[in-house]
Amino acid sequence: MTYLTTSWDDGHALDMKLAAMLARHGVPGTFYVPRQCEGRALLGRDELQQLAQGFELGAHTLHHPRLTTLPDREADSEIRGSRQYVEDITGRECRVFAPPGGRFKQAHVRMAAEAGFRGFRTTELLDYGMPRWRGGIAVLPTTLQAHVHPAAGYWRNAIRRMRLGHLLTWLRYGQGGLVGLFRSLLDRAIVQGGVVHLWGHSWEIEEHRAWPLLETMLMEINERRSQLRFVANSELCREAAR
Ligand SMILES: [Zn+2]
Repeated sequence: MTYLTTSWDDGHALDMKLAAMLARHGVPGTFYVPRQCEGRALLGRDELQQLAQGFELGAHTLHHPRLTTLPDREADSEIRGSRQYVEDITGRECRVFAPPGGRFKQAHVRMAAEAGFRGFRTTELLDYGMPRWRGGIAVLPTTLQAHVHPAAGYWRNAIRRMRLGHLLTWLRYGQGGLVGLFRSLLDRAIVQGGVVHLWGHSWEIEEHRAWPLLETMLMEINERRSQLRFVANSELCREAAR
């Protein structure tokens, strides 16, 4: 079985454009939204409610701080408060959390579990694995960011986490540009099973004028639709629990 999921951070105003593109290609997505993010225009309550009709909303703290810079008590209230914030908007249970900037300590994973989240999305790249369980919460790595990283970005990401297998994946497939890499990763996952998790930020896609690139990636997904099982981030956690 090969699962396909996507996630998009920050609740930027351009997320509506992104959501429309996902909907056009029939691809699911989980949007991780903070209440505030300095210097960025975020979606208002009405738009978030509209977004929540077609997509899952996840929590991304209240003020978008790097959790690793906060005392534990503040980190805990950012994590708990963000769950409440999202649930107030959607009227539904908020099951998944992503730490801003992908920065966290194990203590934050524990806090998220205690706050009631089922999933904790990291920014580990080039991973195909199912979520990994840590004390009652599933930690979700990602496969690829919809963003053109220089090669060193992938290496740093893999080395920081001591994931040499990821480094080998990049060396094998990383030379064909973002779309080429994505295509290779998709095809490998379809053969071997696992998860393809595409993630990114709409504001970053805009900054890099990468909308056509994203559109191509979504078309690549669409072409392989019959070989993939589409899930939102929290559904993937549920699948991993079975
Ligand atoms: Zn963020």
